Amino acid sequence: MSQAKPLIIDVHGHYTTAPAALGAWRDLQIAALKDPSQKPDPKALKISDDELRESIEKNQLKLMKERGSDLTIFSPRASFMAHHIGDFETSSTWAAICNELCYRVSQLFPDHFIGAAMLPQSPGVDPKTCIPELEKCVKEYGFVGINLNPDPSGGHWNSPPLTDRHWYPIYEKMVEYDIPAMVHVSTSCNSCFHTTGSHYLNADTTAFMQCLQGDLFKDFPTLKFLIPHGGGAVPYHWGRFRGLAQEMKKPLLDEHLLNNIFFDTCVYHQPGIDLLTKVIPVKNILFASEMIGAVRGIDPQTGYYYDDTKRYVNATANLTDEERYAVFEGNARRVFSRLDSALKAKGL
Ligand SMILES: [Zn+2]
Repeated sequence: MSQAKPLIIDVHGHYTTAPAALGAWRDLQIAALKDPSQKPDPKALKISDDELRESIEKNQLKLMKERGSDLTIFSPRASFMAHHIGDFETSSTWAAICNELCYRVSQLFPDHFIGAAMLPQSPGVDPKTCIPELEKCVKEYGFVGINLNPDPSGGHWNSPPLTDRHWYPIYEKMVEYDIPAMVHVSTSCNSCFHTTGSHYLNADTTAFMQCLQGDLFKDFPTLKFLIPHGGGAVPYHWGRFRGLAQEMKKPLLDEHLLNNIFFDTCVYHQPGIDLLTKVIPVKNILFASEMIGAVRGIDPQTGYYYDDTKRYVNATANLTDEERYAVFEGNARRVFSRLDSALKAKGL
């Protein structure tokens, strides 16, 4: 791991380009909620290795090669998780299918993809029901993280805050396995909130504030949360959060939250990355692009894809080469310790 040429690890990628048969199976599953006799068999979903290969080679892998990133932590499509649909059994079947596909991609392209799990969350259902799927993904599939939805209702926010004991069964397992959770909501079914334009960013900001108000990391000193999409509004309003913590007699944020909370670089313009890297300590920033994701176009101001975030990290004047290495590789290996172990096993 030379600092001159870091491994470029993208900690936030989803399987947004899965073959159409996956979506068609999901449509049948949703339709059968009205008529359980029509419930589709997971075995009826047939996707060949060639179809998986094609869906990756023409999309994520092509762009990774063009942009110069090496490895993506790969989880099921976030907006498709839709935990609000159906009941636990619906989510459980769906999560198992989606996770297995990401596992198969990681087996077909072991140098370029490693999995992170979607959990079979369901509104009002005890999160401990997610443990068997989590265990399978870590122990059998070699996944290195999970995505935790703080709002399985899809925009109505009727679960307790992330600091509540409600979530502790998942945290206990995360600590046992030393895996981080990316705090990631799914589709909004509240028409006030656009899924990727507001619900995602609201959730990022909300998750941070919930942690600020609580004392979760006193109970779990090694628990790690990755807040995606550059941390929502958090870095931009860092002074507000510092001031609120002060009024609540909380410790300084460095001590209160920054041993446990990390931010990715899914901010789609240079001034955003400049601000992130100026405000948030470098040790808390992990490279990511969420590619191919919500914003797929080309920025007419630059001529480059908005989500080509490596370009902004390279261009920012705020980072030394050593710090850039930390953002691209070092921090990901520290936060995703199972990824580090997997890389070391390959001599990387
Ligand atoms: Zn995402």
